[in-house]
Amino acid sequence: MKEGYPRHVKPDHKPFDPLQLGASTEGIVCKDSMRKYTDFYCTGVYGGISTGYVVGCCLRCIFCWVDFSRDYPEKFGRFYSPENAFEQLLRNAKKNRVKKMRISGGEPTLCRGHLLGLLDLTEGTDYLFILETNGMFFGADEGYVKELTKYTNIRVRISLKAGTPEGFQRRTGAKGDLYKLPYKAIRYLIREEIPFHVAAMSDQRLMPSEERAVMLRKLKEIGYRDFLEEEACDPYPHTIYRVKEAGLSIFNRQ
Ligand code: SF4
Repeated sequence: MKEGYPRHVKPDHKPFDPLQLGASTEGIVCKDSMRKYTDFYCTGVYGGISTGYVVGCCLRCIFCWVDFSRDYPEKFGRFYSPENAFEQLLRNAKKNRVKKMRISGGEPTLCRGHLLGLLDLTEGTDYLFILETNGMFFGADEGYVKELTKYTNIRVRISLKAGTPEGFQRRTGAKGDLYKLPYKAIRYLIREEIPFHVAAMSDQRLMPSEERAVMLRKLKEIGYRDFLEEEACDPYPHTIYRVKEAGLSIFNRQ
């Protein structure tokens, strides 16, 4: 493991390049078209969805609920090919009679070959694949978004973390100027007519109302007219730990 691999945000943290962190994380969690997973299960969100819990992300959000597989990807998970992962997703979907699938826990757009392999397998079935993403890789590469146009049963949920460079750097640990990438991703999704909606971690304990107003203005400027799913920061154990490590105090029980 390379020295300096970011684990979680501290008050004096040095901002990292999220695309570089994504690439070094891929070196740990991707092998050919395989990706590391820690679990497969069904959950009630989206009215019931079969979920694969993947390892690895390119951000270090202080409000992240994901377990320590995000911070220490070398220690968690085992590799699954797209076929093996799809088999697990399908088995749980059938058992629980749900019609949706996703990968969660880490950032699904890491390990591009794996994700596209999974989407290939989902295409032509009667399952809807919900692609949850932080939008960093999509914003950095329009070609990646274009590749989604061939899939008919996909819906993207892109989650914004900030409305300003300062907010982005403070809450994700990444270099502030790259906060624009998810907004670029939204432009590309609109242009390519991919079904999607935007979510935002706009909890007022984390995002000041002025920043929220900037975020809403930006969304309007780029032509986003659909609904905004505003997220609240819930006190999951790993969230409490990360918020505290970042030097903030937003939960009563902290
Ligand atoms: S909240 Fe999402 S984007 Fe942020 S670190 Fe966790 S998994 Fe990554």
